[in-house]
Amino acid sequence: AAVESAPAIVIGSGYGGAVAALRLGQAGIRTLVIEMGRLWNTAGPDGKVFCSTAAPDKRSMWFKTRTEAPLASFLWLDVVNRDITPYPGALDRVHYNDMSVFLGRGVGGGSLVNGSMAVTPLQSYFAEQFPGVNATEMYGTYFPRARAMLGVNSVDPAWFESTEWYRFTRISRKHAEKTGLRTTFVPSVYDFEYMRREAAGTATKSALGQEVIYGNNHGKRSLDKTYLASALGTGNVTITTMERVRAITRAADGTYVLTADRIDDTGAVVQTKQYGCTYLFLGGGSIGTTELLVRARETGALPALNASVGAGWGTNGNVMLGRANHLWDTVGANQSTMPVMGIDDWANTANPVFAEIAPLPTGLEHWVSLYLALTKNPERASFTYDAATDSARLGWSAAQSAVSVAMAKKLFDRINAANSTIYRYDLFGSGNKVFADDFTYHPLGGCVLGKATDNYGRVKGYSKLYITDGSLVPGSIGVNPFVTITALAERTMARVLAEDTAP
Ligand code: FAD
Repeated sequence: AAVESAPAIVIGSGYGGAVAALRLGQAGIRTLVIEMGRLWNTAGPDGKVFCSTAAPDKRSMWFKTRTEAPLASFLWLDVVNRDITPYPGALDRVHYNDMSVFLGRGVGGGSLVNGSMAVTPLQSYFAEQFPGVNATEMYGTYFPRARAMLGVNSVDPAWFESTEWYRFTRISRKHAEKTGLRTTFVPSVYDFEYMRREAAGTATKSALGQEVIYGNNHGKRSLDKTYLASALGTGNVTITTMERVRAITRAADGTYVLTADRIDDTGAVVQTKQYGCTYLFLGGGSIGTTELLVRARETGALPALNASVGAGWGTNGNVMLGRANHLWDTVGANQSTMPVMGIDDWANTANPVFAEIAPLPTGLEHWVSLYLALTKNPERASFTYDAATDSARLGWSAAQSAVSVAMAKKLFDRINAANSTIYRYDLFGSGNKVFADDFTYHPLGGCVLGKATDNYGRVKGYSKLYITDGSLVPGSIGVNPFVTITALAERTMARVLAEDTAP
């Protein structure tokens, strides 16, 4: 097959990939970004690019015959999910034994589907997780750079207190306060000025129109509007879509050779392409990058990759749960899809939990308080290569999820006791499941910084091969992860461009 080549190639266009692309482009290095998902810029028959959670269609999910929303049921009824035509939709759910992982697919990766919560971790916890990184430099330079580039802003507290759209958050805050717990506002990359116009009826509703996990048509500063737009603006970056990199090898001259499958809207492989590059940046995310490297090591394509490739993976301690409120504590039929507050009990060393107060926008009053708890679960798992399916298998177990559940339960048992409330049993399928512990929004690790790579994301055993995504984070960061992933990528790019790419 003919080989197309570029000085630098970036695999994936999520946070890690987008930062790499922009900084390479600004440095004058011609760069090709290869993304397996679509470019989401074309409206469907309804005039919208993305579909809402209320009326999911084929655009919702990545090649599924039925949607797989995190909340499987409501009053035990299977009313949430819908049959759909398989299509390269925006949200993927990848299934392993006892754990599934939600991922964004398309130009912008997870930024297309996530909740926009833009949280900087506690410096002390960051330092604990990244002993090889200069935390002072991170908090002085790279976190501020990441936040500025991502367009992080905060909800106006006065508006928050008065709007019906955040009543659900204020109720959860009241219950946390009654328990003696601290709550904190959480910044966001959703434009709150736009949201206020949505509420006033002067802008098309997006966050206030039940749009989030299948994409937002307005208001959200996803990567295609920030880093990737700037990257394309350098004139040195191009993005190719609907191509999934399958294999990475190294040629005799030290350059990298990639094999990529080009797919169509049915998922059929219509072409297999080869790419060559001098510098290769992996931004496929914790799952994508780790699978590529585990496969490369085990098939002998990149045999010098070390044993840490595939190890150190965690869920960021994710557990979802709902509480049932008293009849007088209405949460409101109208709920913004963008969370703006968390219950911060991370400093409780006996049971550290940060719980985001999550919306459940159904358009009707349901008295549910929903949470995504991030627990300090120390359990980690590894990926192994399965030759029969040419894919990576995750060795996570239900017992490892039970550790997260126990921590979330401790906190929410306290909240229920203080407020004389109970859990909701009807949200996660037929089995009266209270804690959704079988999925994560925050896959982290697999190629941990300082282990699979040096302290700057340079892959050990190979030169000019870099990782810039969430696979570097050692399984837990205590808060929602994209600001950390972005800041670490900024740090890697500053170092690599200063030291490795000089002509
Ligand atoms: P990704 O953003 O996952 O990007 C990887 C990209 O690479 C994808 O576009 C993928 O299609 C592509 N790719 C992968 N493999 C290949 C391949 N072989 N060939 C070509 N392309 C490939 N985090 C927060 O901080 N705040 C939140 O509010 C929040 N909410 C979330 C809500 C949901 C529903 C989900 C799913 C996630 C949420 N997250 C949130 C998590 C956050 O989105 C991720 O941590 C982040 O996107 C990870 O960034 P990344 O660069 O590591 O990889």
